[in-house]
Amino acid sequence: MRLLLSKQAILVRLVSIALVVGLLGWLFDLTLEFLLVYQMVLVGWHYKHLFMLDNWLWRDRKLSPPAGDGSWQQVFDGIYYRQRKSRKKNKELRVLVRRFRDGAEALPDAIIVLTSDWSIIWCNKLAQQLAGLRWPMDEHQRIDNLIRNPEFQQFLQQKQFDSALELVSPLSDEVTLEYRVLQYGEKQYLLIIRDITQIKQLEQIRKDFVANVSHELRTPLTVLQGYLEVMDVDNMPAPPIWQKAHTVMLEQTKRMDALVQQLLTLSRIEAAAKVQFDAVVDVPAMLHLLEQEAISLNREKQHQLQFQVDPNLRVTGMTEELRSAFSNLITNAIKYTPPGGEIQVCWQRQHQKALFSVTDNGEGIAPHHVKRLTERFYRVDEARTRSSGGTGLGLAIVKHVLSRHHSKLMIFSEPKRGSSFSFSLPPELVVGVQTLHQPKLPRKK
Ligand code: ADP
Repeated sequence: MRLLLSKQAILVRLVSIALVVGLLGWLFDLTLEFLLVYQMVLVGWHYKHLFMLDNWLWRDRKLSPPAGDGSWQQVFDGIYYRQRKSRKKNKELRVLVRRFRDGAEALPDAIIVLTSDWSIIWCNKLAQQLAGLRWPMDEHQRIDNLIRNPEFQQFLQQKQFDSALELVSPLSDEVTLEYRVLQYGEKQYLLIIRDITQIKQLEQIRKDFVANVSHELRTPLTVLQGYLEVMDVDNMPAPPIWQKAHTVMLEQTKRMDALVQQLLTLSRIEAAAKVQFDAVVDVPAMLHLLEQEAISLNREKQHQLQFQVDPNLRVTGMTEELRSAFSNLITNAIKYTPPGGEIQVCWQRQHQKALFSVTDNGEGIAPHHVKRLTERFYRVDEARTRSSGGTGLGLAIVKHVLSRHHSKLMIFSEPKRGSSFSFSLPPELVVGVQTLHQPKLPRKK
């Protein structure tokens, strides 16, 4: 139990001893001398304890305090009590730090703790293996001085950490690493590096497989389709069931052909290098052609088609990819709007961006389907889509094309009222808009 020193008690004790000493001195007629000796004994007693304290704190370094007298014992006990408390706290902190480090070591990723100026506070063993860091030699070194890749340095400078960065490992060209940064606490960052070589390889195998299969299917399909088309079933001495079989076979080969074409388009886009924004795409001319195609496609359904196109709005990008995106959205509107419906196609400037939208008053889509529409082979209604000749790949292609052109597909739809599919291309892709990152355009010949 802690006992606080009482000022009053000390004062009473000092005064009563001084009185007794003074009285004794008075008896011998040596009052002042007796009081002086008393003062000297008091000072000596305090010095003795001061030396004991100094010895305990700086030389002796024993855990338990020295045995002092009176009020000094209480001071020793107080210091001892505080020391024990902070020792316990330190131990708890050490356990906590060890637990965190053990946990971080057990993770399958490289972990590097960084300050806001990117200097290293701590890293785990995997960070030493994956990023080539040396511990503890690299402590307090800036990570961008150690991983000297311009893309990585730009990634840190831009501080847009909601997406990860993929780079070839600084130690081996055959290893691909994913860098992810998380901010925590006031100004601390966690850099997580993951080896994604295997995932990348599997992804590549999948892409190659789809591309190869689609390519291999093309020739037998063309042969089949060719024979079916030239076959004159009406004048053949065959039972009537053959006529029906012939129609179905022709329909199905056409569907399969569309599927193969879409798969090849998707594979081409996936395998293509980064978009070089140096070619100007004449979107108004492209939309004019698509309008002609839409009119001939629309003969059966008699929709009211309306195209509102800004004739001067051109962008930079990949012509074929953008054509595929525009065409898929327009064709879908025609496919999924019942006869006599209204379809509006817009290509307009909006706040320096180029906005494309296709709005219809067709069957619409329930909200729970909307967020999955861009998945490959996702269809709202299998039977209806099949009958309309759909492949389930159109919107997946649109999504890919748009992400390569720094844009996103937006879908608003209400069942039985219609849908609107739109996207806007950013100002840096719009020809004639001055931005900081305006791509260089080729000179007209
Ligand atoms: P598909 O080739 O089957 O049309 P998409 O990827 O283009 O494949 O479209 C996916 C699904 O989204 C379609 O099966 C259809 O159900 C729905 N969909 C697309 N566009 C529209 C639209 N304008 N109106 C209603 N549903 C649509």
